[in-house]
Amino acid sequence: MGDHLLIADDDVRVLETFSRNLERLGYTVVKALGGEEAVRLYAHGQPAIALIDVRMPGMDGFDVLKAIRSGDPEAEVILVTGHGDVDTAVEALRLGASDFLAKPVEQSALDIALRRAQDRIRLKRSLRRAQAALQASEAHYRAITEAAVVGVGITDVEENLTFVNQAFADMLGYERTEMWFMNLAQLTTPEEFVRYRQETQSWMAGLRSQYETVMRRRDGSMLHVLVSAAPITDAEGEMRILAVISDITDLKNAERERERYAAELERSNKELQQFAYIASHDLREPLRMVSGFVDLLARRYRGRLDDEADEFIAYIVDGVARMQRLISDLLAYSRAGKRDDRLALSDCNALVEQALLNLHAVVAESEAVVTHDPLPTLVVDPSQIVQVFQNLISNGIKFQPPQPVEPPRVHISAEQGGGIWTFSVQDNGIGIAPEDIERVFEVFERLHTQEEYPGTGIGLSICKKVAENHGGRIWATSELGRGSTFFFTIPE
Ligand code: ADP
Repeated sequence: MGDHLLIADDDVRVLETFSRNLERLGYTVVKALGGEEAVRLYAHGQPAIALIDVRMPGMDGFDVLKAIRSGDPEAEVILVTGHGDVDTAVEALRLGASDFLAKPVEQSALDIALRRAQDRIRLKRSLRRAQAALQASEAHYRAITEAAVVGVGITDVEENLTFVNQAFADMLGYERTEMWFMNLAQLTTPEEFVRYRQETQSWMAGLRSQYETVMRRRDGSMLHVLVSAAPITDAEGEMRILAVISDITDLKNAERERERYAAELERSNKELQQFAYIASHDLREPLRMVSGFVDLLARRYRGRLDDEADEFIAYIVDGVARMQRLISDLLAYSRAGKRDDRLALSDCNALVEQALLNLHAVVAESEAVVTHDPLPTLVVDPSQIVQVFQNLISNGIKFQPPQPVEPPRVHISAEQGGGIWTFSVQDNGIGIAPEDIERVFEVFERLHTQEEYPGTGIGLSICKKVAENHGGRIWATSELGRGSTFFFTIPE
């Protein structure tokens, strides 16, 4: 054990016998021959337990007890009373003695008294430790609550606030002291208050949930908040609700703005598509007529008017042809935007063959070599994907140097990975400068004049739309003078 023990008695013999007994039990004993010495030695050594004889000349055991306890309220003082002296024993306990022993002190009684004292000491020690830990954790939580950017509030069962942190008060524009015992009904609308009460029921039932609501600030303005809460019991055993609120007003506004913007965008997109469709569709009819009569004019009157007239007619024929191409491309573009449900399991090898069939004349004329690796079978809109291959292959063939050293070559392959198929269409053409590579996918964006390379600037924007309609994307890598590779993805 090794604990220090103070014994006080005015009888040297008693003191010695007592001391020997205790030392045998393993205690380190400090002996005091009288009350004053006992008080002095106690203050000096702070022994674990003091065994004090009550009847001593001068300062008696009661005085010693009082003196020790005034300096150390938790002192373990056992008073040793005369045999059968019940009154003294009662007085000893009243004055705060931990225990008493009657003279002559029997070994067994001493053992029990000391063991009980030891138990109390241990208990007090662990209690002190628990208290310290509790205080530390309480300080911890307080610091967290105060530093929190979310509002923390506690209400009693009548929905009165019994605690709010600074953030809670700040959010609602109040001083913290003003919110003390404020009723929640004052802080929201009647409907939302009813909802809060309903939510409270589920929190009480132990359900973890959060919900969005509005709260009224001091200046009357409304605040969108996200509330989550849990039931707690306070120190007095009273049921409370601990609620955490975060300000989502900005989020809400942004969300509303986004929704409004998306709706607006969708509306204007639809309008635009409608317009492109109607315009191109309706333009076709008069253009067909112009084209018909110009053809007639060219056939009947070529060589019969003067040279200039022939030249003018040739310009008109050319212009009409371009306009027809532009209109049919525009029509294709507006159709590509429609999410028609024409998805089908399609063999991409067959789709490439179809594209090549459509490009038969161009391929033959340019002597292009178009090859492809084995391609997968996927669920796609087949006619749209044919269009993509057709546009990319024909671009590869078209955008070749003016004086080519070799015939155009286009190679198509596909790679699987990450839940998508990535197709690539590679050519040996003129390439695209890095700064232009993004904008070629926009409608009407072209990098060359009609004279250099004819076209409408719509082909790649159709490809982009089709890829996006299929949940994929499109991009390109290129080096000027070395050729380009266009990539597009289709989810598996
Ligand atoms: P168009 O071919 O009718 O001009 P596209 O939308 O298909 O329209 O292409 C846009 C522009 O991107 C082209 O005008 C051209 O400048 C560039 N481009 C497209 N494909 C290639 C390619 N394979 N190699 C080099 N440039 C290309």
